[in-house]
Amino acid sequence: MMKKIAFIGLGVMGYPMAKHLVNNGYQVTVYNRTVTKAKQWAEECSANFANTPKEASIDADIVFACVGNDDDVRQVALGEDGIFAGLKPGGVFVDHTTASAELARELNDIAIAQDKHFIDAPVSGGQAGAENGQLTVMCGGEQETFEKVQPVMAAFAKFSQLMGPVGNGQIAKMANQICIAGVVQGLSEALNFAQRAGLDADKLVETISKGAAGSWQMENRYKTMYAGEYDFGFAVDWMRKDLSIAFNEAKKHDAELPMTEMVDGFYEQVQQNGGNRWDTSSLISLLKAKD
Ligand code: NAP
Repeated sequence: MMKKIAFIGLGVMGYPMAKHLVNNGYQVTVYNRTVTKAKQWAEECSANFANTPKEASIDADIVFACVGNDDDVRQVALGEDGIFAGLKPGGVFVDHTTASAELARELNDIAIAQDKHFIDAPVSGGQAGAENGQLTVMCGGEQETFEKVQPVMAAFAKFSQLMGPVGNGQIAKMANQICIAGVVQGLSEALNFAQRAGLDADKLVETISKGAAGSWQMENRYKTMYAGEYDFGFAVDWMRKDLSIAFNEAKKHDAELPMTEMVDGFYEQVQQNGGNRWDTSSLISLLKAKD
């Protein structure tokens, strides 16, 4: 029988993710806080929208959500109009929001008490990954539940992995963001250094990207970083939200993040310079400004 799906949150990520589900033959009902966006999506996809998360979730086998932060997830999940109020026993709630592991465990406890299932499933791959259906999904939850949702997530994901119990998906995403912070700062310093020393950027990257210094950031962002263009995806505000989640988690495990803390301080400076919505590669702007 065809699975019925609900999708809550039609932002930069959710809008194309929900569309991929329709294109893969699922019957999808969406909810978005700003109703004009829900209407636009429903028209574009010839599918339904609901007026509350509860209404969207009634009858759904799987409810996906992709909203902002912990508080936003609580707002769409809990209360009389929330996802849990509509989701049937046996149904699965998959949260693609980047949020804390604690929130994931809290929602899982609620799901268990109601004979429902929960998976934390933050994604990486950015806007382009969502649009091309090429996201990577880091999941936490029960194996059996994961196996139920994995083929459905394949509509928008090139790879998904169960990282362990609920919360572990979020912890994997934190590790992902810790890596990105360091890589982007290293790349910013190298590019700024090379530019000031008079090297040809294309030649440099063509050469060193083939070796141990190569990275996704280097290949995909060096040109725009050189040009001082920072309008290519994941915003500094979102990054600082993700890093603060990682710092809280790291404290619990006595894991030191000295370089990540330093880079977070740089992102704070970018915000102070008005770069809240610039993408994460805007770290280089601080180095360019120092003349
Ligand atoms: P976005 O474009 O700002 O969209 C956020 C969505 O959540 C919108 O649909 C918004 O509704 C909804 N929302 C926010 N707060 C809400 C609330 N309190 N109640 C109901 N709905 C609410 O964000 P995004 O870029 O899609 O990111 C979504 C999540 O994915 C975030 O956790 C982000 O960290 C993560 N993520 C993003 C990227 C990326 O490159 N953008 C990459 C990986 C992970 P309205 O339309 O009404 O505002």
